[in-house]
Amino acid sequence: MQVPTSQNKSSKSSESVNTKIPDKFVYFFAAGEADGNAGMKSILGGKGANLAEMTALGLPVPPGFTISTEICTHFFANGGQLPEWVRPKVKEALARVESKMGKKFGDVKDPLLFSIRSGARASMPGMMDTILNLGLNDQTVEGLAQSSNQPRFAWDSYRRFIQMYSDVVLGMNSTLLEVTLEDLKEEKKYKLDTELTVEDLKILVKKFKDLVHQMTGQVFPADPWDQLWRAISAVFSSWDTPRAITYRELHHIPSSWGTAVNVQSMVFGNRGDDSATGVAFTRDPSTGNKEFFGEYLINAQGEDVVAGIRTPQPITKLAAEKTPFKSLEEVMPLAYAELEKFYTQLERHYRDMQDIEFTIEKGKLWMLQTRTGKRTAKAALKMACDMLDEKLISEEESLLRIDPSSLDQLLHPTLDPQSAKTMLAKGLPASPGGVHGQIVFSSEEAVEWKEKGKKVILVRIETSPEDIAGMVAAQGILTTRGGMTSHAAVVARGMGKCCVAGCGDMEVDYRNQTMKAKGYVLKKGDIITLDGSSGEVYLGEVKTIEPSLDQNFERIMKVADHIRRLKVRTNADTPKDASTARGFGAEGIGLCRTEHMFFGPDRIDAMREMIIADNKTDREKALLKLLPMQKSDFYSLFKIMEGFPVTIRLLDPPLHEFVPHGDKETQELSVRIGMDFEKLKAKIKNLHEFNPMLGHRGCRLAITYPEIYQMQVRAIAEAVCDLIKEGKSISPEIMIPLVALEKELEVLRELTVHEIEKVQRERSIKFKYTVGTMIELPRAAIMAESIAEYADFFSFGTNDLTQTTLGLSRDDAGRFLGSYVSQGLFAKDPFVSIDKKGVGALVKMGVELGRRAKPDLKTGVCGEHGGDPESIEFFHQVGLDYVSCSPYRVPIARLAAARAQLLSKRERVLVL
Ligand code: ADP
Ligand code: MG
Ligand code: MG
Repeated sequence: MQVPTSQNKSSKSSESVNTKIPDKFVYFFAAGEADGNAGMKSILGGKGANLAEMTALGLPVPPGFTISTEICTHFFANGGQLPEWVRPKVKEALARVESKMGKKFGDVKDPLLFSIRSGARASMPGMMDTILNLGLNDQTVEGLAQSSNQPRFAWDSYRRFIQMYSDVVLGMNSTLLEVTLEDLKEEKKYKLDTELTVEDLKILVKKFKDLVHQMTGQVFPADPWDQLWRAISAVFSSWDTPRAITYRELHHIPSSWGTAVNVQSMVFGNRGDDSATGVAFTRDPSTGNKEFFGEYLINAQGEDVVAGIRTPQPITKLAAEKTPFKSLEEVMPLAYAELEKFYTQLERHYRDMQDIEFTIEKGKLWMLQTRTGKRTAKAALKMACDMLDEKLISEEESLLRIDPSSLDQLLHPTLDPQSAKTMLAKGLPASPGGVHGQIVFSSEEAVEWKEKGKKVILVRIETSPEDIAGMVAAQGILTTRGGMTSHAAVVARGMGKCCVAGCGDMEVDYRNQTMKAKGYVLKKGDIITLDGSSGEVYLGEVKTIEPSLDQNFERIMKVADHIRRLKVRTNADTPKDASTARGFGAEGIGLCRTEHMFFGPDRIDAMREMIIADNKTDREKALLKLLPMQKSDFYSLFKIMEGFPVTIRLLDPPLHEFVPHGDKETQELSVRIGMDFEKLKAKIKNLHEFNPMLGHRGCRLAITYPEIYQMQVRAIAEAVCDLIKEGKSISPEIMIPLVALEKELEVLRELTVHEIEKVQRERSIKFKYTVGTMIELPRAAIMAESIAEYADFFSFGTNDLTQTTLGLSRDDAGRFLGSYVSQGLFAKDPFVSIDKKGVGALVKMGVELGRRAKPDLKTGVCGEHGGDPESIEFFHQVGLDYVSCSPYRVPIARLAAARAQLLSKRERVLVL
């Protein structure tokens, strides 16, 4: 359920609209001079800023100008209309382009044509549509045919223009025109678009215009200026299309940023066999290898390469060797040599891997875009290490190059090379990982099935921006067309999702919902496995193995450890978790939840006996059964974490969580523990609470039943004594949960100290220990100064602190939190990324007040936020000593902590 958002609201709700007309909002670029530069992404958008930068560097960039992102704000404030005062400045800039080019816009003899390109601050691949060849109409197309002496090219450009324009600006369903084109090709028995003749194209243009009229009720606009204004407006509007919004939400791009519009004179890759268009990466974005890597198509324009209309060809000779194609290096050696020169120059200039777009018109190379390329985590690590070796970047920069969250990709399983498998087909290794799932053929179904708890692989001929939601829902993506730079490949890499692209050995039939490969016919719902690192597709489910981390990873982690101030611990309840976390570099346990130890089949009954005991004696009898079990758990945890601190939290959840709920289970239990069924049932019923999360739990359990904590403390102390006898050095940290009142902690601290001293006396062994508390209730943060008197450490339990500060139940918020995020009320889910202003303020207050009472008070965080990079940056700023997170997030936290240290030193810049 989505609450509809109006454009104005979703774009600008949180900011008051600045209605002041900016002094400058049109930025010109042509032949070596540019008003803007790469540092101006916030007003020129990434594309515009880099077009300006490349122009200033002297690279061949077709002249044009950028209308700033501020105008996007004005556009929405003006009810989705371009304000009148924008027009004169645009006309002025366009006239400057005309004089640079020696051609006129709308000239019937030799028309100047434009591309209209969107470009936001952060790159949003394929989200905003580009219009090419703007300025063509029935008259100017003849002029272009004559001036170029290539009627076919002129008419090909015209039909493309109508297709793009009616889709992007007139909002027509683009498949109608595509089908018309496909029908004609079929009728003429053509395989490729390039086979269409002038006559065919003329027929198509006529048909297209008729269809536009039929479907939209409008005549296709012929006046170039009319075309231009409407195109500019359409680009601004496209900032708020559902697919743009989805992408923004996914990547946490604020809707207030807006897009810029670039108006740029056209160059043509569709002028015949001496013309081409392509995209390239200065290094391999999948592996990180230092190999120039890209794809091109001869006699093509714009998005042809990305859209997978024809299979694109490799740029370098090396890459082409394994294919039936000829490389650009061989076909157009001069243009290739120039491209090589420019890409090297660009990579040095930006000191990072670039993703570039270019067009070759009659042998001449034009640069159309450069941006820092997206990459897999593996590639990011490899590039950072290589660039360190190349002395292109410093150690500090190498850390800023890697998005901590992306490391998640590396920590996930890959396919087991030993396991038997049946290969169905092989495509391109577009984005690594090993996943299996049931095949579905549409994004809608991917989303539906996912909601039903199924794992799916989205299988498409190719993907488009409409498929984003389905790609998010799927385990992996498989396409039959499109190359390494196709939409599917780029977006999947950005998401860190496994993808096999361009799998031509396979045939997808949407109508019958089947997929054919190697004689197998697979239906919707059948299971396949993808290997995104090799491009292989397997029948059924293939076993996976745990990841192994390479030396680049180790190296970057070392750099991070050297820089960070925050310590990184883990939340671990079992020896297995603890040793996994040690392997990932955890420096101790920040939270061991003792209740998880009670759920084992051999323990739960003893626990239940304890809970339903009638009196203290019975309870103590049951606790005595639990004591050795707890002790042995602590023993193993301490042993694994020897030399590092281990924080044990005493029992926290409400007791009813441990008792059986159905009659059948209750009956069985009554037999096992020898208690009357009805009596047992009544006891269990008695434990019911209306609001258990705010009920009888945490330290409140021990205020009423002190013997529970006594037993746990004894188990800890005895385990420590055993280890000390073995010559190990252990110093446990005992943590009391859900403290609101200083008195609670005073009492329970005394209980703890008393019990430990008792054990120490019994065993004649002394050891160091500390007693602290969780700060997870607002009152505790507010009263931190008094509470600190009884605490050696504070651990902020930000999960509960978020619940209790916002009055927001974690278990029930799912129903409406999505709307809060999509409407911008929360920038991010506050259970994922800490609400800095509110919950964060309590953390800050807690640290400051606590340290006022006890300057050496140790502080840390053990909520989910301890593994979230943005929250970690905040915890660094407020001066916590450590964060604690789940084992698999330990490397992420190590890197994030180092970045927090670096970023606190310099002004916060958007680095990725
Ligand atoms: P996206 O943001 O989706 O990459 P672009 O604005 O870069 O969209 O446009 C897509 C493609 O259109 C470019 O890669 C290029 O091939 C083509 N294109 C854009 N502007 C021009 C131009 N002025 N001349 C020729 N081709 C262009
Ligand atoms: Mg582009
Ligand atoms: Mg808690």
